[in-house]
Amino acid sequence: MFNFDNSYIKLPADFYQAVNPSSAHAPELIAFNTNFATELGIDFDGLTEKELVEIFSGQKLLPGSTPIAMAYAGHQFGNFVPSLGDGRAILLGEIVAPDGQRYDIQLKGAGQTSFSRRGDGRSALGPVIREYILSEAMNALNIPTTRALAAVTSGENVRREEVVPGGIFTRVASSHIRIGTFEYFACRDDFDAVKQLADYAINRHYPELKVSETKYYDFFIAVSKRKLSLVAKWMSVGFIHGVMNTDNSSISGETIDFGPCAFMDHFSYDKVFSSIDRDGRYAYQNQGNIALWNLSSLVHCLTPLISSESKNDFTIDNVKEELDTLLEFFIEQWLELMGKKLGILSATQSDQPLINLWLSYLEKENLDFTNSFQDLIHLVGNNNTQNQFKQTTEFEQFYSSWKQRLDDQGSDVHEVKELMSQNNPVFIPRNHQVEKAIEQALEGNYNHFHKLNKVLSKPFTFQEQYRDLIKAPLKEEIVHQTFCGT
Ligand code: AMP
Ligand code: MG
Repeated sequence: MFNFDNSYIKLPADFYQAVNPSSAHAPELIAFNTNFATELGIDFDGLTEKELVEIFSGQKLLPGSTPIAMAYAGHQFGNFVPSLGDGRAILLGEIVAPDGQRYDIQLKGAGQTSFSRRGDGRSALGPVIREYILSEAMNALNIPTTRALAAVTSGENVRREEVVPGGIFTRVASSHIRIGTFEYFACRDDFDAVKQLADYAINRHYPELKVSETKYYDFFIAVSKRKLSLVAKWMSVGFIHGVMNTDNSSISGETIDFGPCAFMDHFSYDKVFSSIDRDGRYAYQNQGNIALWNLSSLVHCLTPLISSESKNDFTIDNVKEELDTLLEFFIEQWLELMGKKLGILSATQSDQPLINLWLSYLEKENLDFTNSFQDLIHLVGNNNTQNQFKQTTEFEQFYSSWKQRLDDQGSDVHEVKELMSQNNPVFIPRNHQVEKAIEQALEGNYNHFHKLNKVLSKPFTFQEQYRDLIKAPLKEEIVHQTFCGT
């Protein structure tokens, strides 16, 4: 079924542990993402549901699979942990898709590894359902992310705060190398390994840098730009990752490790959902700064390599300067995206006050982030002064500056509406809907799960029959907190 072509196992033995998935007792299939499997060039024709379940529960190892758990470290909420690693994830192997792109196929929740510490190596069903919906929704929003290939129940219960059904999630990533993977070797002063890992990562994710005389420096900048543009994209759809530790920061620039993440309903700069983020380290508005904090951890790991490069006068003293330049890059990305959401073709620094005026109006009036942008689209070209927004001084100020800005740019009404529609989703995976899918799944009913996946695969298209899923939650439906559930 998979044409495995495994490259990570060619790295030295301390990069991973060879480990087989433990067999689930009575797994059942929840979902197999056939569209994505086809894109990946996976040949699943003629496979029965039973065979799919065996494969995606880890019961049956396919030829060519060399299962491993990857080693990594990480800064968790700012505290360094030298040994984390895949404690409940097992990489089955890598495949190369028809477009030449290499992918990891990984089972999450298929048993213990040498990195499990006190954990059981299992996943509860709730987080499996959640990651499936959110990662596929993220992809449909055109935001780089790991993907969902399959989900199964394990047929076993796992003990969390309470005893809950278990599940296994098959994740596909362009790799699972994290900033924490670099930290694992750097903190052991093993810079030969850091170099091997960097060469491997460059080869896999940034092959254009291979010939550069300053390839490690260029690698740092390239990773940084991908990460920062990812965070700007998250913010443009109101996404809060919630646990952006360095071990949850991918080198490829994909969204990874959907834990207590959430899309916000009403807008708030300081919004936090995660029950474990007590100080708001990973709050909505802090995500750019935290990405930079994580990147500064990466550059520390790479500094010995970077400073040994010819034609590079880089030292650890330049880091602050580099990070300042990267912050500017982040702000440019953010302006560009937020501008487009407001119909501005190419926003610059001078548009920042207008964008902030709008956001602080949303915050003050406790308005829904996604739906308010949709409501704005209807106001483009509408010369009627009446509209559904509460006419506060702030709104009037915003509204007249915004109209003026659109007039000045000289694009026609149709063009502006089109730009806004392309950059403002109608449907997002709202927490209360995701919760509903999880609650049903725990009772063995996957209707809402499938319905959400279907609607969210076309987030920019208004779908009349799913009008209800556009709505912000009623007061009693609001989800205030999300949990890792690991
Ligand atoms: P995460 O919350 O996914 O970022 O996980 C942080 C670390 O804890 C990683 O090293 C995980 O592999 C490990 N971990 C999380 N949940 C479990 C579990 N149920 N069993 C073993 N290890 C776990
Ligand atoms: Mg993680």
